[in-house]
Amino acid sequence: MTTTLILSGIIAAISIVVIVTAVWLMTRSAATQPRSEARTDMTTTLILSGIIAAISIVVIITAVWLMTRSAATQPRSEAKAATLSDYESVERAAMPEEIASGSLVISEQTLHRKGNRPLAAKTDQVFRTQWGLLVPVETKTRKRLYASDIVQLSCQAVALADHGTVTDYGYIRLVVPGRTPDYQKVKLLSASEIDRLWDRYQALRLRKATPIPRPATHRCSQCAFRKGCSSAPKENRTPTTTFGKPYRRGP
Ligand code: SF4
Repeated sequence: MTTTLILSGIIAAISIVVIVTAVWLMTRSAATQPRSEARTDMTTTLILSGIIAAISIVVIITAVWLMTRSAATQPRSEAKAATLSDYESVERAAMPEEIASGSLVISEQTLHRKGNRPLAAKTDQVFRTQWGLLVPVETKTRKRLYASDIVQLSCQAVALADHGTVTDYGYIRLVVPGRTPDYQKVKLLSASEIDRLWDRYQALRLRKATPIPRPATHRCSQCAFRKGCSSAPKENRTPTTTFGKPYRRGP
């Protein structure tokens, strides 16, 4: 891309110089020579200038086309490679050693656990360490992690069990624009704990269990059920108009 740009610039500059020279010669010829000679010279100069101008225009158009084509095809892979290389160097430096020295084996795939309690878990990245262990990594674009992140990562670990030996911990990769990614190591829930959550989820879904209210002013103030919810703080029970803001469901 850079080479093509430089070449195109040189060609365009030469073309402009040639056109300007031709026009200058034409003007000078008309100003200095006798009228008949000037007319003949002027015609010759005009033809020559026309030819030069036409060649220059063709050269400029070809250069621009080459530049556009070059930008559209070749550089994309180069730029991608550069971006990947930058990404790799920044990312590897931020990673914990065990995964930085390991290999990426799964990226953005949905894994399925079959059996009595089937589940689907979408992974971000899974690394295989030098010792052959699988480590799940989940990316979140925020500063802090939540309990739900650990449940999510634990489901991935459970679904990964068919692919090899999985560690009992994983990493939540917290990403904030302009900062180095922060890898937080978290202890994962065991398979039996995930099974208990699975049972609870199904019971709630089939209305065989009642949800436990967890009132919190910031949460209840936007909840669609707050009007009739006895657990909601009193000040939150009367809905207020929230133009343009959909009510969030709770608890
Ligand atoms: S249902 Fe809504 S209002 Fe009631 S406790 Fe949960 S979040 Fe608060």
